[in-house]
Amino acid sequence: MSVSAQTLFDKVWTAHEVVPETADTPAVLYIDLHLIHEVTSPQAFSVLKSLELRVRRPDRTLATMDHSTPTSTEQVFGKIPIKVDAAAKQVRQLESNAAEFGVELFDMRDARRGIVHVISPELGCTQPGMTIVCGDSHTSTHGAFGALDFGIGTTEVGHVFATQCLLQRKPKTFAVNIEGELRPGVTAKDLILHIIGRIGVSGGTGHVLEYRGSTIRALSMDERMTICNMSIEAGARAGMIAPDETTFEYLKGKPRAPRGAEWDAAVTRWRALCTDPGARFDASVDIDASTLEPMITYGTNPGMVMPLGGAIPQVSGNAVYDKALGYMGFHGGEVMLGKPIDVVFIGSCTNGRLEDLQAAASILKGRKVAPGVKLLIVPGSQQVKRDAENLGLAQIFKDAGADWRESGCSMCLGMNGDTVGAGQYSVSTSNRNFEGRQGVGARTLLVSPMTAAATAVRGRIADPRELL
Ligand code: SF4
Repeated sequence: MSVSAQTLFDKVWTAHEVVPETADTPAVLYIDLHLIHEVTSPQAFSVLKSLELRVRRPDRTLATMDHSTPTSTEQVFGKIPIKVDAAAKQVRQLESNAAEFGVELFDMRDARRGIVHVISPELGCTQPGMTIVCGDSHTSTHGAFGALDFGIGTTEVGHVFATQCLLQRKPKTFAVNIEGELRPGVTAKDLILHIIGRIGVSGGTGHVLEYRGSTIRALSMDERMTICNMSIEAGARAGMIAPDETTFEYLKGKPRAPRGAEWDAAVTRWRALCTDPGARFDASVDIDASTLEPMITYGTNPGMVMPLGGAIPQVSGNAVYDKALGYMGFHGGEVMLGKPIDVVFIGSCTNGRLEDLQAAASILKGRKVAPGVKLLIVPGSQQVKRDAENLGLAQIFKDAGADWRESGCSMCLGMNGDTVGAGQYSVSTSNRNFEGRQGVGARTLLVSPMTAAATAVRGRIADPRELL
């Protein structure tokens, strides 16, 4: 082992460390990009006001509206006001705070608006080697570009506003080595659900995961973002993937990516962002992707997950398991395929990108949503919406009987009024199946866009490979 060999994480951390940690104090880490939205920023702005502070680097701060914004076209672009009062207030507050503090904002009608973790990459704001923070757990998404990213709390949002730095204990490193080709009908979502099931919802605690191996190298950027997005669901502080030609190809020409000579210099820098041969990780796991099946959750955390064609594991003497299955209305040994469902949601920062919608459309084309089932499809951004409309995907969705909306977080967390009823089963491409996540009493089953689409067509939990 080379003493100087560094992991990808070590390289990015070291380049941003203003003050190293001590036994008593966390490190001070410089932040390149602070993404904000309407839900976790108001309190932080209030603190700035009370202390008579300014945002230290407005040029490194970008605001969008996504968590609580309506997805109905009439409320976004028409004359109907936002129906959820709390959402309307948050939207107004972010507008006034952004204006007062000089922060760039993509407001409700901006063509660049969308879910914070979708718009930053698609604009080229997210770049390899950056440190990125946002008051949202799924900031881990940006690690797909070789950025180091942390979801932070409202208090930390205030710290970053005031100082452009974050206090942080240095995480440990965890190599997730994945080899083999995914089979048809098995997607990046199935892979990350399998990984979470394998290492557990606390398996990555205190670590930054680095996804490595031939499987990862073969994934597109949309797929890599799906993987990194859910790192947090394995308890990790962040997830990262070393940038490569796929990354550079994705970023080239994006509105805010470097251009000309600056692009060439950036790519030269970015090529060095990889784990050196011989670098040591604190933990590791090896995954054979070639044997994986489509996956589905059966419980109330993403680690309670199983192959779609399997049966719910039988566990005795585990109160968490009993409570989860009680909430879901399931019991050990039950088969999931064929179970009737009520709602299907395709969207979120996990699976609301163009390739996700293309995957869903490949199943829905020429087919109809089963009677009695509600299929809600919400693009991750207005750009994704335009692309999907230009490619004819939106028409496929509408012809199938789906509800096609404006972008936002929507039913991922149901803050905007897009909710699942109590007791209803929702098959969802989002990232959390916690109790009440999609509405009070809602029962969420996490799957890939293909499985979601197949389930919408059948009206029952279905294997997408039957409809390929
Ligand atoms: S889609 Fe869900 S997980 Fe993603 S940013 Fe919105 S609320 Fe958070």
